[in-house]
Amino acid sequence: MRFGEIYGNDALKRRLTRMVDENRLGHAVLFVEQEGMGAVAFAVALSQYLNCTNRAGGDSCGQCPSCVRHQKLSYPDLHFAFPVNTSARLSDQEKKHPVSSYFIRDWNDLLLSNPYFGSQMLTDTLGIENKTGAISVNEAREISSILSLQPYESDYKIMVIWQPEKMSTDAANKLLKLLEEPPAGTLFLLVTQNMEKMLPTVLSRCQIIRLQPVERGEMAAILQQKYNLDAQDAMNIATLSSGSMGRAMAEVEQMGEESQSAAITRSLMEAALSKSLSEVLDIADSLASMGKDKQRQWCVQAESFVRKLYMSSCGLQSIAFAGEQEKEYIATLVPRIKESFYGKAAAALDAAIHLIEGNVSAKLVFADLGNRFYLYI
Ligand SMILES: [Zn+2]
Repeated sequence: MRFGEIYGNDALKRRLTRMVDENRLGHAVLFVEQEGMGAVAFAVALSQYLNCTNRAGGDSCGQCPSCVRHQKLSYPDLHFAFPVNTSARLSDQEKKHPVSSYFIRDWNDLLLSNPYFGSQMLTDTLGIENKTGAISVNEAREISSILSLQPYESDYKIMVIWQPEKMSTDAANKLLKLLEEPPAGTLFLLVTQNMEKMLPTVLSRCQIIRLQPVERGEMAAILQQKYNLDAQDAMNIATLSSGSMGRAMAEVEQMGEESQSAAITRSLMEAALSKSLSEVLDIADSLASMGKDKQRQWCVQAESFVRKLYMSSCGLQSIAFAGEQEKEYIATLVPRIKESFYGKAAAALDAAIHLIEGNVSAKLVFADLGNRFYLYI
């Protein structure tokens, strides 16, 4: 994986390559991201750059023997550890002490096909179903024994640990020793989406690198090119995904199953329920920038959705006419919503349709509507 293949965070790419060029890379780097930003891709790209024999233009060459093996994730000095649990795919013996190496093929396939994956996608891929993954003391032992060996080709043994906050206490203590006195040539690349859950003693030994959300315009341009979307759709999805490439990709995929209007309604409900006024207003902005037809279409869809919520809240699921997936979603939503919301929200949507028809500024109409959702819910 070359840096050039990863979307966004260009300043960070330059910073990382400079750290390597100027020999300022510590023995432990912690990447902090929000889910779907692709920090693990940065870790792999950093390892590839570090080991490339023909670096040029601030990136690895992609062609030397080291790069070729990195691109297949078969480089012998690049290792991965991540939270696992038992899976029906493991043998009885393996089930006793599941560790990452049993799942490495699934992990590599996922990382190569979608480096912006999140926790749920990994859990699904590994087949550990609804069990919580953990990094156990057995895993920590494996990490320790890998790092105690001489590297095969590199000057380094590179250990990428995904979600180090999911270590058991025993595992963390073992890792802490390795972080304090790492065997020569060790490079830890940790990736977390929950830095606040990490042990301060581990944090204090890491160089911390934060990924930034991809800027909205840049994300829209990427989506337009990657998925051949029209400019407006791309901008809407960029708004909904809060700068996370993984979330944007999931939104695009959902478009087939669920109309874009429904996706916007969902985001608006979630933003209002989580009391994030700034997110509500971002969504309102995105609605305001759409064409009149799409705005009306969205208002009608949203009103129909509010009606389904209301029916379900009265115990009339059977006449709410919701699809199976939608029913499940509605069931999770209803207990979080005030009873008085439905009538007021439907009236506000009605009013919005009239105002749009009457050529009132869409920016005002949707800002007001968003605000009402935020207050009423
Ligand atoms: Zn190379």
